[in-house]
Amino acid sequence: MEASIMDGHGRRCGAVSGLTTVKNPVSLARLVMDRSPHSYLAFDGAEEFAREQGVEVVDNSYFITEENMSMLKRAKEANSIMYDYRVPAPGVDSASAGLEGAKVENGLLMNGLRISVYAPETVGCVVVDSNGWCAAATSTGGLMNKMSGRIGDSPLIGSGTYACGDCAVSCTGEGEAIIRSTLARDVAALVEYKGLSLQEAVDYAIKERLDEGMAGLIAVSRNGEVAYGFNTIGMFRGCATEDGFMEVSIW
Ligand code: ASP
Repeated sequence: MEASIMDGHGRRCGAVSGLTTVKNPVSLARLVMDRSPHSYLAFDGAEEFAREQGVEVVDNSYFITEENMSMLKRAKEANSIMYDYRVPAPGVDSASAGLEGAKVENGLLMNGLRISVYAPETVGCVVVDSNGWCAAATSTGGLMNKMSGRIGDSPLIGSGTYACGDCAVSCTGEGEAIIRSTLARDVAALVEYKGLSLQEAVDYAIKERLDEGMAGLIAVSRNGEVAYGFNTIGMFRGCATEDGFMEVSIW
């Protein structure tokens, strides 16, 4: 697992990678930001820091679910790497995924597969407070069947996560494409240097910058503008304000 957090007010940040026992990686990323002299800790050093800081750790088996094991098995069989909003890997159709005739609890299907089976494991959050100060955080288990040692965009400041005085951005999707596009930073730069509105910046970055990859992002500006964009089939997202407004969307 890996995660990052950035406080746009003062551009402070923290990130962690290569975790196997930390229950809430994003909390550790925050401690890296607040209590370490560094910005990014990974693998053994990050686990050691977690123990020093007394964050909650669990046995690795806590993270191993039946659904994920069966997805991993299928990904291995198909010799494929998968990410959220994935279409079935080549050679893995809904029938071979064992979902044929499955009861559809929520009535929603994606590519013929139950959405619950493909529930995203990456969580991103962007916030703005009444001072107009923005912050972003992203946490993930990465890609299904990724290589050992692979680091994605989520812990990389500027790629999966970014916040500055103008806005905060968190991305999800195919990490390699997000890294190549420095997606989160590009959205912020378009607002900062070109004066685009947040939604214009998001649309431009998704259309012009994201090359040959499937991804999406959520963003908020210092004025409270909320924006999102994706070139995937859907992206689970929600928005809440302090006066009680709440909204959730997929498509
Ligand atoms: N972006 C994440 C990664 O590539 C995966 C995801 O967002 O689902 O590690």
